[in-house]
Parts: sequence; C-alpha cells; structure tokens
Amino acid sequence: GLSTDSDVVQESESISKKSLRSSGEKFEFQAEVSRLMDIIINSLYSNKDIFLRELISNASDALDKIRFLALTDKDVLGEGDTAKLEIQIKLDKAKKILSIRDRGIGMTKEDLIKNLGTIAQSGTSVRISKKINVFNVLVEKMQSSGDLNLIGQFGVGFYSAYLVADYIEVISKHSDDNQHVWESKADGKFTVSEDTWNEPLGRGTEIRLHLRDDAGGYLEGSKLKDLVKRYSEFINFPIHLWASKE
Ligand code: ADP
Ligand code: MG
Repeated sequence: GLSTDSDVVQESESISKKSLRSSGEKFEFQAEVSRLMDIIINSLYSNKDIFLRELISNASDALDKIRFLALTDKDVLGEGDTAKLEIQIKLDKAKKILSIRDRGIGMTKEDLIKNLGTIAQSGTSVRISKKINVFNVLVEKMQSSGDLNLIGQFGVGFYSAYLVADYIEVISKHSDDNQHVWESKADGKFTVSEDTWNEPLGRGTEIRLHLRDDAGGYLEGSKLKDLVKRYSEFINFPIHLWASKE
C-alpha cells in the first residue's frame, strides 16, 4: 500500500553533480553493459516511467531476500532490528533528486561491483558466452525497435534508471561489509567508495537518481504518486512517498 507525506526530506551532504568522488576505486563497465547504457542514455523511448517499476521491483526482491534469510537465521531480523521491511521514495525538488530506499538485504562492495557493472558472470565459459550472445541479440532488438519495455526481463532493469537520471549513486549496507557508495554518470566507468559521509543506512540500499533536465516531471509529487500507485499494486511491502515542499 502507498502512503504519502509532505515532510521535507532529510538533509544529506550536498555533492556536486558534476564531479564523482575522486577518492573512490574506479572500474569500467563490462563492454555489453556499456553498450546497453549508451542505448538507454540516447534513447528517444517515451515510456521512461518503467524505471520506477524496475527500481521498486529490485527493492522488493531485496526485501524478499532478507525476509527469507530470517526464516533460517534468528539473528537476521532479531529483536534489536526495528527497521521495517518497507520501501521509501523521496523527492528532493531543490536538489532534483529522486531516491528509493529499501530495508532489504543490501550489497557488499563486491556485490556492487558485480551486480551493477557486469552481466552473465556465473556458469561455465560456454554458458557465459551463450548468455552474452543472447543478451546482445536482445539489446539489438531493443535498439532497432526503440522499445525498452522488456529491459527487466534481461536481468538489467537497474540501468533503465538512466532514462531519467544522468548521475546515479547507490548507497548500500549488507551485514557482511561496511557501507559503500557506487556511482556513475554512465560514461563507461563507475566508482565504488567506502561510505564515510552519508547517514548509516543500518541495512539495505538507497538509489539516488540525479534527474536529467528533461525528466523534471518526476519532481511533481502528484505525478510520482500516481506512478508509485500503479507499480506498487503487486508489491508485498509498504511503500512510503515523501516530497519536499520546494
Ligand atoms: P535483476 O533484478 O533482473 O537481477 P537488475 O539490473 O534490476 O536485474 O539488478 C541487478 C542486480 O543488482 C540484482 O540481481 C541485485 O543483485 C542487485 N540489486 C539491484 N538493486 C538492488 C537493491 N535495491 N538491493 C539489493 N540488490 C540490488
Ligand atoms: Mg531488477
């Protein structure tokens, strides 16, 4: 279910949209991922709304994972763990940031590098190259048809966020690691840094979308509310939406 609130979002340290943190470790996207991102960034696809479906579904998957773990490990959602299994969406109109936070399983540094930088990592080398071939055919199809709606079915739904953002930060805390920040401007590379400046998440992930100039519409609370409503229908966790007044 969706609930809304008009509280001003919590202040976080402001950072320049133009500069990635120089202290972080730098990585290059796998070539196939880079190519997909180019297509997304340059796409004329008008149905950009799908990014929200993909990010909500990822948040929901992460919550499912922690809930499943808790079935077999009593420490996982123990007494001291009061964080609700929910999704929070916040709109910061002044900074033009749309953020989606979940209290799910989170990602370690290694997870961030592998999950948000590569595709088809597991299996035998024959399997991997087959998967990559299939992936390339599908990407080809998306490019020639201009229809990105199927992106989620290729296991790369996350990147659809670049339909609306030109800079994305992924802040994540998994119980096996310290909190890290992944960030990229979709220019072939990404950075991962140990997070020493943001508020501790406790557990889970926050995706911060620095919205593109042509995606300002998502800063309208009512539009976002309708969208969240539409995509929350089949989500089994509560979704809360906040919008700053300015
Ligand atoms: P898919 O969801 O089909 O695997 P995505 O591109 O949407 O493909 O996401 C890639 C991977 O990144 C996910 O499989 C998951 O491991 C990781 N991931 C993405 N978002 C989150 C999140 N909010 N919490 C934890 N892991 C995430
Ligand atoms: Mg997904």
